[in-house]
Order: sequence, then structure tokens, then C-alpha cells
Amino acid sequence: MTGINRANQFEGISTPFYFYDMELLTRTLDILREESDRYGYRVHYAVKANANTRLLKLISSYGFGADCVSGNEISRAVECGFTPDTILYAGVGKRDDEINKALSLNIFSLNAESLPELEVINELAAARGITAPVALRINPNVDARTHQYITTGIEDSKFGINISELDRIVESLKGMNNILLKGIHFHIGSQIRRMSAFRRLCIRVNEIQSWFNSRGIFPGHLNLGGGLGINYQQPDEIPDFKQYFELFNRFLEVRSGQTLHFEPGRSVVGQSGSLITRVLYVKNESATPFAVVDAGMTDLIRPALYQAFHKIETLSPSDISKKYHVVGPVCETADTFGKSVDLPQIKRGDMLAIRSAGAYGEVMVSSYNLRDKPGTIFSDDLRD
Ligand SMILES: *Cc1c(COP(=O)(O)O)cnc(C)c1O
Repeated sequence: MTGINRANQFEGISTPFYFYDMELLTRTLDILREESDRYGYRVHYAVKANANTRLLKLISSYGFGADCVSGNEISRAVECGFTPDTILYAGVGKRDDEINKALSLNIFSLNAESLPELEVINELAAARGITAPVALRINPNVDARTHQYITTGIEDSKFGINISELDRIVESLKGMNNILLKGIHFHIGSQIRRMSAFRRLCIRVNEIQSWFNSRGIFPGHLNLGGGLGINYQQPDEIPDFKQYFELFNRFLEVRSGQTLHFEPGRSVVGQSGSLITRVLYVKNESATPFAVVDAGMTDLIRPALYQAFHKIETLSPSDISKKYHVVGPVCETADTFGKSVDLPQIKRGDMLAIRSAGAYGEVMVSSYNLRDKPGTIFSDDLRD
């Protein structure tokens, strides 16, 4: 295992930086390919989880497609080797220029989230004299029971088309000559670890598909979105793709000739990244001491944004164990990576690894407090 359990391998590298374990990512991709190939499922990596070009190039080399949520993500995906006919484009707020980019590249599908958006896509496609490949993103009203900020599949979510609107939309589509309805799309949320949520999704998709069929509409593909969670307590664990795909194979009713599509993001890259930081000061030794580190919420915002847990490990062993509040330097109380974390005794200069930071980490870096961007180090660039 390459691992990150040795501080000396990072000698001379200035902190904070993202460290990517390329061996773990490769193993994850091998398993993902094997388990999806078993059923002929098409995988489109969700670029927003981590858009690092080196990672994207590795992921595209496996023949996976890309799921994008902005025009810039589409461009980045193409630059990194994803072929346009495997690219999907979702998002509630697509700009005209972004839709035009997707149309000119002839991507696999634009996943439309509302009637006004469908009208704009139809108009822009008509102006080009083409037919836009579209899937409807439907809100199946399945509660993924994850954090409220990452739940997307319930009625009052801003995402997707509610079931109650489907009748009207299907009616309106009849008058839209420049839209080709290719499929139906669902994405119920993120960091979903209970398989029962995906089982409920399958059952709702079966009902919704029957509804379409009863109106003479036969979607060519079903897109089940992403959302498979990772184990933040066990950072080296690879998510159980076998069990995940098995569940869809078992519960989903697939019509003949129909293709199945998935959009995993976090589960692909989450475990392979760590944020490496150095302890600047240990203060307040009388109560639970604060370990003030040189990484902050500008480098990894998940704890501040979602009260997310990240396992924190020291790379400098010690025999004495203590509790610390691990905090960053940014002028916000939310800039806290962990409260009362059990760690070997630490001192100024020690290195810590904030684990499972490969997804929704580097992509959310900001420059608040005019802070510098963290660096990026790949395991296969380090000398043994
Ligand atoms: C964010 C997103 C994904 C990926 O979600 P993960 O939880 O990272 O797997 C997939 N599809 C859509 C439409 C998304 O917005």
C-alpha cells in the first residue's frame, strides 16, 4: 500500500496540499469497471466531485463517460479525453451559451430540469436546425435521508421536475419539434449509505416508466444518477459497487434495448484524496487544547458546510494519546476540522492527514482571507 502513513515522504513539500493516492484510485476504477461491465451499465463520472485534470485523464482512460453540471466542466471533460457522446449535462440553471456548447459538441444528453428550460433548449436547437438529445430529470420524491444540503430528490427540492408536472410537460413536448426525448434521469442525493434508499428509487422508477409507457412513450435509457456514499470512518475502504449494481439489476425493470446509466462522483474519488496540513500552534493547554493547523475551510469546506466528519490522523507517531480540537486559521468559528479528536500527542511542525478528502474538496477551494490555493501531490510522483 502506498498509504500516507509516513511524514518523511512529504519532506520539503510546503503545506497544505492535497495528496492523491493513485494506486487506491486505480484499484477503485478497476472494481468499478468490472462491476458495471457485468451488467453492461454505462458509468459517467460526476466531474464536479473532483475536476483535477490528472484524475480526469485516468478516469477517462477507463472508457467511462462524464456527467457535467456546467459548460466549463464539459470543456474540461473533453480536454481530458472524455468523448462527447459519453457526456451528460445536468443542472437547474443552464445558460444559453452553455446549452449551445452542449449542442455544438453533440453530447449524449442534456438532462432538463424544467419546462422553461425545455423551451429554451428547443429554441436554441431550432436555431441550429438540429434536434437536441434530452432526458427529463424527474424528482421521484424519494428521501435519501442524508444531510439536508445534499438531499435532492424530494418535492420541495430545487432540482428536477415534480411528478405532478409530468402530464403538462409530456403534453408540451409534443409541440417541441427540436427535442428528442431520449431518456429519464433521477438523482436523489449524495453520501447515501443505506441501500434501501436505492431500492425505493428502483420501485419509483418502475412506476414512472410504466406511466410513460402507458402514454406511448418509451425512454431509450434510464439514468439512475449518483449518490453512493463512502465510509468516512474507514478511509481506505472502497465502496461496495458490487452490491450497488446488483441491487439495480435485481429491482429495476429494464425494457429491451434500454441502456442504464450511472453518475458516481464521490464513490470514485473520495477515498483517494487527503488534505495534508502542518500544526502551527497548540494553544489552550489547560482545557482541551486547540491544534491550529495551516489548512482551513478555504482548502476543505465540507466540515464547515455540512458538519461533515473527516478522519484526522497524525503522520508523526507518539506514544501519548490526547484529545484536540483541530482548527484552521480562517476568521470563522466554522473553520474547524474536528472537535475532541483523539490523536497521538502533537507539537508545532507535525503533519496531519485529513482523510477522505478526494471528493468535494479541491473543487471547492476558495480564496477567502486572500489565502493561497493548496498544492497537489500525486503518490506516483513521490520517490520511495
Ligand atoms: C452531484 C451529482 C452527481 C454525483 O453525486 P455523488 O454523490 O458524488 O455520487 C450525480 N449526478 C448529478 C446530477 C449530480 O448533480
